[in-house]
Amino acid sequence: MRKIRRNDNVVVISGEHRGLQGQVLRIDTGKDKAVVQGVNLVKVHEKRTRQRDGGIIEREAPVHVSNLAVVCPACGESGRLGVTVTAEGKRVRFCKKCNETIE
Ligand SMILES: [Zn+2]
Repeated sequence: MRKIRRNDNVVVISGEHRGLQGQVLRIDTGKDKAVVQGVNLVKVHEKRTRQRDGGIIEREAPVHVSNLAVVCPACGESGRLGVTVTAEGKRVRFCKKCNETIE
């Protein structure tokens, strides 16, 4: 079970963007990479189109999920996620700090 999902609030725990927080916009499961809002911005040269001028824009590049930790929405703690099985046999993620389940 993957611990990081789309729309999670995550913090970067290693690399040059360490400490940055953002929402997961996209996950590339095949490559174990995630695109996080405002993290790992790269300059992209856009071609001029009929709709807009070309030029240099900034866009998020994927970062490896091992560099990310989910921030618990209940207590704000990061990187203390566990997975447990409920009485109904459903696997859920929970915060090891406050025991809150995270959808
Ligand atoms: Zn928590």
